[in-house]
Amino acid sequence: MPGRLDGKVAIVTGGNSGIGEATAHLFAREGAKVALMARREGEGARVQDAIRGEGGEATYIQCDVTDRGAVDSAVAKAVATYGGVDVLFNNAGHGARGNFPDEEDDAWDSVIQVNLNGTFYMSRAAWPHLIESGSGAIVNMSSIAAVIGFSKNMYDLSGRGVPSSSYYVAKAGIDAFTRYCAGRGGEHNIRVNCVRPGQIITPGATGGTDTHVFKAVFDATQILDGPGYPEDVANVVLFLASSDARFLTGEIINIDGGTPRKL
Ligand code: NAP
Repeated sequence: MPGRLDGKVAIVTGGNSGIGEATAHLFAREGAKVALMARREGEGARVQDAIRGEGGEATYIQCDVTDRGAVDSAVAKAVATYGGVDVLFNNAGHGARGNFPDEEDDAWDSVIQVNLNGTFYMSRAAWPHLIESGSGAIVNMSSIAAVIGFSKNMYDLSGRGVPSSSYYVAKAGIDAFTRYCAGRGGEHNIRVNCVRPGQIITPGATGGTDTHVFKAVFDATQILDGPGYPEDVANVVLFLASSDARFLTGEIINIDGGTPRKL
């Protein structure tokens, strides 16, 4: 059976862990040649080798998405390796410890840089190649934090508040950037969509335990039981990246087990 990304070249930022790792595997199983981009070389090589071991095609390219020069050369390297770019999954990101008004300047800057600047730099570098593709697709990584608020009760549940204010702001910016780029992409048949996960079990979200650091907050608000897993997000990202979603752009899909009240 043909793969849903046969013949496509896909960049997955943050492809060496969590949601990015699961998506890189799924993309490769669906026939894509995958360029994994992230900072930790050992983890990048591990995922690259695992995909190749399954018979897929993947190359790890070290890249810090907050460094615009590094982004430009990583995208150039992906194009030199695989001949173009058809799909970009802007997944790299993280939050910070500390809640407003005590969030430190460094934490604020770092969260804005990786989530928001990284998404901007990467999309800009990939854009001419997506135009050349003729059917380019970007999938951005937001968070349910972009569209929900919280009460004092919710804030107190986890014992560490909620994600940092910078995270709420950066992810809301990614929502807006998605809609903006969708508007710019139409004339080139570039589709730009976005996912908004909730409670997903990943190394970044569990802090070395079995449960999400904000489990108590999510459990109090979710419609469905239990956490989600990286594959739950990867399946939706694949849909958005593939021609199954050829008539969708500017959409943002919540993958959160159902949050009853959103903006
Ligand atoms: P994760 O396992 O920690 O993955 C984060 C990835 O981002 C890693 O591969 C990391 O690799 C990469 N990264 C971080 N900073 C980077 C930088 N400056 N340049 C390049 N890559 C960088 O956590 P995850 O939960 O899968 O997170 C993936 C995305 O999902 C993030 O954007 C996160 O905000 C979003 N998200 C997660 C959840 C959740 O509950 N898990 C919910 C909503 C949204 P290196 O450290 O090697 O660079």
